[in-house]
Amino acid sequence: MSSALAAARFTEEWVGVLGGPTDAEGPAEGPDRGRLAVLASELTGLIRADSWRPEQAQRLGSALARAQRHRPQGLGALPRLVRLHADTLLGESAPPALLDQLLGALATGYARELHEHSLTEHRLRLREARRTHRKVQRALRANEQRFRTVFTELGVGIALIGLDGTVLDVNPTLRGLLGLNPPESERPRIPRQRENHRPRPLTEHVHPADVDTVREDFTRLTLGQHTRLPAEVRFYRTDGTLVWTHVTATLVRDVTGRPDYVIAVIEDITERHHLRTRLRHQAYHDQLTRLPNRALLDAQLRWAFSEHSDVRRVGVCHLDLDGFRKINDSLGHEAADQLLLAVASRLQALAGQHLVARIGGDEFAILVTDPPGVDYLCGLAKDVLAGLRPPLRIGTRQLEVTASMGIAEDSVGETWPGELQRAAESARSWAKTAGGGRWVVFDPHRDAGETSQFALAASVSGAVDRHEFHLLYQPLVELADGALTGVEALVRWRHPELGLLGPAQFIDLAERNGAIVPLGRWVLTEACRQARRWADQFGSGAPYVSVNVAPRQLAEPGWLAEVSDVLAETGLRPDRLQLEITERAVLVDEASATDTLHALRDMGVRLTIDDFGTGYSSLSYLRRLPVHGLKIDGEFIRGLTCEDHAESRDGKIVEALIGMAHALGLQVTAEWVETAAQARWLTNLGCDIGQGNWYGPPITPFELDELLRRPLAG
Ligand code: C2E
Ligand code: MG
Ligand code: MG
Repeated sequence: MSSALAAARFTEEWVGVLGGPTDAEGPAEGPDRGRLAVLASELTGLIRADSWRPEQAQRLGSALARAQRHRPQGLGALPRLVRLHADTLLGESAPPALLDQLLGALATGYARELHEHSLTEHRLRLREARRTHRKVQRALRANEQRFRTVFTELGVGIALIGLDGTVLDVNPTLRGLLGLNPPESERPRIPRQRENHRPRPLTEHVHPADVDTVREDFTRLTLGQHTRLPAEVRFYRTDGTLVWTHVTATLVRDVTGRPDYVIAVIEDITERHHLRTRLRHQAYHDQLTRLPNRALLDAQLRWAFSEHSDVRRVGVCHLDLDGFRKINDSLGHEAADQLLLAVASRLQALAGQHLVARIGGDEFAILVTDPPGVDYLCGLAKDVLAGLRPPLRIGTRQLEVTASMGIAEDSVGETWPGELQRAAESARSWAKTAGGGRWVVFDPHRDAGETSQFALAASVSGAVDRHEFHLLYQPLVELADGALTGVEALVRWRHPELGLLGPAQFIDLAERNGAIVPLGRWVLTEACRQARRWADQFGSGAPYVSVNVAPRQLAEPGWLAEVSDVLAETGLRPDRLQLEITERAVLVDEASATDTLHALRDMGVRLTIDDFGTGYSSLSYLRRLPVHGLKIDGEFIRGLTCEDHAESRDGKIVEALIGMAHALGLQVTAEWVETAAQARWLTNLGCDIGQGNWYGPPITPFELDELLRRPLAG
């Protein structure tokens, strides 16, 4: 066989033994066949040669190993392949001694190459590992450096604490915070006694009240129940002052995951704490008197009623000063503030250990937990009211104040805070209505009555929309000739459940809750519409209509426009409408009421003062008001019972009132004329108009139609 053919075959065999390229080498990295063929030819040369130098064969072995990318399995296959190749080449068994030598040298070369290769690889790996290690070391050092910088420079305190609770290290901020000595390295070198360097627990500096919580939290943290714990902790500085801190403790584990130590970040929040305390104090205290405010009273009450307290009964006294508004208006805010301050300090002294709160402008409350009984509260109320009575010195003035007080007391199982306060407030309003300067104990029965009245008042507006109201008309008669000149419109409520209700049962309530405004609007419209019908029907013989106006209506800004709108809508001539205004309504805001009355008078509407004689009845204001007349209150006429009217007290008053009104050019109406004698006497006195059962009770429009038709018919 030719040597070229033999070399090609050897190459094939060699590749077959060693296989194709490994996965790692990829297709491009397979054995280099060209190179192998060259090496096989060299091998062929050596096999055929009679002698060769061992280095020559060793070099060839090394080259074969390199051509095979240093695959170790090539070394095992080499003797068999070389022998086979030699046999094929020589056509007979090659001389064993020479071949053995050749194989030995080839294998030596191959093995050396393998060894050197792995040595190089090892060195390379070692170098790489060293480089990586150095990198890690550098990163660790940088980390450590960063941590140290944070540790020493950070403005918050940091403590490293061992799992046994002893301090491993603290940063300068924390040292400063707690007033601890600087560490040895930072101290001036002055000879001094050796210190005891025994590790100390951080709890040595913790406020005794916080120690237990801190210990519990720390244990939970070290047991891994929590990885991070925030808490507010008070520390004592070495100088004995208190520092408020916010502590965030974090458990640090070692590489194996075992708890190693704890980092506590300790932030000084003393300022924040004081600010918070101040704000909290402000939120719960009145700025002027420094007394607890309503929020604090509410909180105390809620606590007393809560399951956390063992309070069984609670008493509340609500009081306000009588006529405080007047004092405020006449003396000014500054003096009023001084008065409140003086009252507050008296109250505090009088209430002893009980909580006194300022719950509004001139409103105060005293909270009594577990009072021995209502009598005790009444005694306290009596003492407080008496104690407030002696004059208070405000600037250069001596002021006397009285107060109205409401008392409510109940067991915590029977009521709740809001209800108790409402009860005390209701009782206080009763004390006020009764004239002030007194105390009243809350009475649930009275309250129930008022509550139903309240509900009644609340339903007035709806009742207007449901058309539950109607008007009756009572004749107003000219005393001189007995002619029916006008009618007073009087409202009635046909209540779906309570039946027919008179104005006494709802007008005052509606006045108080404002429902009088829509009700009054309806009355005015309805009365004007009816008066217009009579005007159309009876011409000049038709009566004018007299409509009652509540104080609240008069004070309502849009009311004047409303009157003129109603007149325009109904087409009633203004002089056919009379408005009855009480003295009280004028007195609420005399200036603005007078303006309104002037405007009405300019419109041509008749104006009269109702129930004259029951109110202020000042001549001077009567002179100023642009009214056409007045109606003497029925109570004076009722007083005229015997024949000798002129001699009775009421007789004299009525006579004087008629004289005075006429002197001012006012028309006089007498209400509640019930008897012929009263009618006669009033006629003789020159009274202009009479109203009352003697002339006719309030009747329906239908009945009044009949009455108006009668003279025509008769
Ligand atoms: P007032 O304006 O003084 O009305 C006269 C009241 O005296 C009416 O009571 C009338 O029924 C009653 N009366 C009439 N003649 C006699 C009599 O001979 N003897 C006695 N004892 N009483 C007599 P009424 O209708 O119950 O009205 C009471 C008050 O209710 C009225 O007093 C008035 O102030 C108010 N009022 C009535 N209707 C209205 C209204 O529509 N709006 C407003 N704001 N108040 C009204
Ligand atoms: Mg009237
Ligand atoms: Mg009247």
